Amino acid sequence: EQKVVLITGCSSGIGLRIAVLLARDELKHYHVIATMRDLRKKDRLVEAAGDTYGKTLTLLSLDVCSDDSVRQCIDSVKDRHIDILINNAGVGLLGPVESISMDDMKKVFETNFFGTVRMIKEVMPDMKKRRAGHIIVMSSVMGLQGVVFNDVYTASKFAIEGFCESMAVQLLKFNVKLSLIEPGPVHTEFETKMMEEVAKMEYPGADADTVRYFKDVYIPSSIDIFEALGQTPEDIAKCTKKVIESSRPRFRNLTNSLYTPIVAMKYADETGGLSVHTFYNLLFNFGSLMHITMSILKCLTCSCLRRRTISPD
Ligand code: NAD
Repeated sequence: EQKVVLITGCSSGIGLRIAVLLARDELKHYHVIATMRDLRKKDRLVEAAGDTYGKTLTLLSLDVCSDDSVRQCIDSVKDRHIDILINNAGVGLLGPVESISMDDMKKVFETNFFGTVRMIKEVMPDMKKRRAGHIIVMSSVMGLQGVVFNDVYTASKFAIEGFCESMAVQLLKFNVKLSLIEPGPVHTEFETKMMEEVAKMEYPGADADTVRYFKDVYIPSSIDIFEALGQTPEDIAKCTKKVIESSRPRFRNLTNSLYTPIVAMKYADETGGLSVHTFYNLLFNFGSLMHITMSILKCLTCSCLRRRTISPD
């Protein structure tokens, strides 16, 4: 029996790849409803979908930031029946907080947090009634660990992690599954779009040192990290398919094993100092990736051996 999968943000990147991978499933397990804000951007998806377009893959327009758009889209699905909802649409934001307008910050939350919440709110009641369904949320490693100069983006992903962690308990009672996918860096337009934004930035309100740390220290090391550790959107699509097809899907799903030490580090030191100081050292005291990896591993080993508590006296 074919499952109806609705995916947001399919005009590019990870969303496009998930749509194509599921639509091309050999056993035709999925009917994919690939959605995007602007259907004029459908060409790349249609081309990648090949002869599945119009068969196991259909297109609908959907803007996660609009109540009307979300309602109309879901109403146009037969019986409003969606088995798997994949919340993928998201936007990035980089730079010194001093230079970013409050409006731009709110836009990130509108898409990454409220956009996902809006989708879940619209689709979840039918899933609860049917006592079946699976909600997937494209979070990020940055939903678990703060990253310098990604302050607001990180906060939006933390927000959605907190929302999902809370929802998961209730949904379990209704047999509705909820899974977070937490990729590290992925080579998509996300990266390109952000670098273009950075090139255009003028940094109003930020002092010269901050601008220098951002442009000359953070950006080059971020490019190195993307090059060395980046996964492809296909990798993330395959991970997502695995999560969907698992008989007991996990709640949290990191996709890049190179990032597990970073997450472990956070839980290894409940004071939070280890993470902050490691990231400080990564940014300001080391140049090469080798050093980065070594310092993470060193810190991790030390903290695993020594468990610290706060002293009452
Ligand atoms: P991308 O920019 O290629 O894709 C994001 C898609 O979301 C785009 O097609 C965009 O048009 C769409 N979108 C934006 N606002 C929308 C709205 N209001 N309504 C509907 N669609 C909208 O980038 P991507 O890397 O494929 O990003 C997909 C998801 O993966 C995002 O949630 C992102 O936060 C997450 N992610 C990306 C990376 C990475 O390094 N690229 C890492 C971890 C997580």
